[in-house]
Amino acid sequence: MKKNRSSFSILRWILLLLILGFVTANAYFHQHPEILGKTASVCALCPTGAIESFLYWIRTGYFIHRIALSSLILLLSILVTSFLFRRSFCGQFCPLGTLQELFSSMGNQIKSIGVLRKKTKKDSFRWTKYIVIAAFIAVPWFTSSLFFRSIDPWVAYAHITTLEIFGLFLWGFLILLFSLLGSFIWDRFFCKYLCPLGGFLSILSPLGMFRIVRNTTHCTSCNKCNVVCPMNIDVCHLDEITDSECIMCFQCIDACPNAECLTISSRAGTKISPSLVALLTFFIIIGFVVITTITGHFQWLK
Ligand code: SF4
Ligand code: SF4
Ligand code: SF4
Repeated sequence: MKKNRSSFSILRWILLLLILGFVTANAYFHQHPEILGKTASVCALCPTGAIESFLYWIRTGYFIHRIALSSLILLLSILVTSFLFRRSFCGQFCPLGTLQELFSSMGNQIKSIGVLRKKTKKDSFRWTKYIVIAAFIAVPWFTSSLFFRSIDPWVAYAHITTLEIFGLFLWGFLILLFSLLGSFIWDRFFCKYLCPLGGFLSILSPLGMFRIVRNTTHCTSCNKCNVVCPMNIDVCHLDEITDSECIMCFQCIDACPNAECLTISSRAGTKISPSLVALLTFFIIIGFVVITTITGHFQWLK
């Protein structure tokens, strides 16, 4: 049966842009305390900070300077989404992923760039992000500092309205520029090779309850799923997508002409729609933030 799933795509983009807009505004207010006072820094609101600070926290009982309980709360909320929907944080929430996808979409619109875009099979260099996450865990433990802060593209993005972008955060800014401009041609370059949080969530991905399943009876081998997959997964030749590179963005499901072909299913056979996964991912993370804000554990102020 032919289908129209564009409502999922609209919902997904509304949520993604809402999140991106919110964190961008928060970063702006932090850099300009004359507007709202001292709001929390990007590090205090970044789940990766909790990973960086974890061993130090175990050793000393404190977080590394700039990291707050908020980072750990965000990480815990993401872990809950991961145990349900694998890397749905990457495909349905992460603002840095959204930025890359926006640039990819722009690249798709420009014909002269379109010819440069290559859809290749998954390459064998994805292990690089595991080196990055190992370094993000080990080095801050030894140095008792956010050692990689100045080269972190997300921290650089949060300082984009300050002159520090050409000073302390120059390398992070260059990595950000390379990743975003590179997204004109390569989908999610930073996610594939450099992201520590992406590496961490890839390791946990096999624990996720739900995954995409391909019904071979309905598949016409049209290859549309492979063409749109930003992580270059060979969807149209797999029975189930358990690849830890899958970011659960569901663009393959959206592109598939047959509604019965690609579905999201638990191992027990429970099916769930892409829109519900997007909404649950959003509300689980926002729910953690709202509840811990009410209890006074989520730190919005510096
Ligand atoms: S891999 Fe990293 S940057 Fe990419 S979507 Fe996931 S957390 Fe965000
Ligand atoms: S888009 Fe759907 S029908 Fe086409 S190859 Fe992929 S799974 Fe099969
Ligand atoms: S397999 Fe589908 S859900 Fe997974 S990354 Fe590719 S397009 Fe997204």
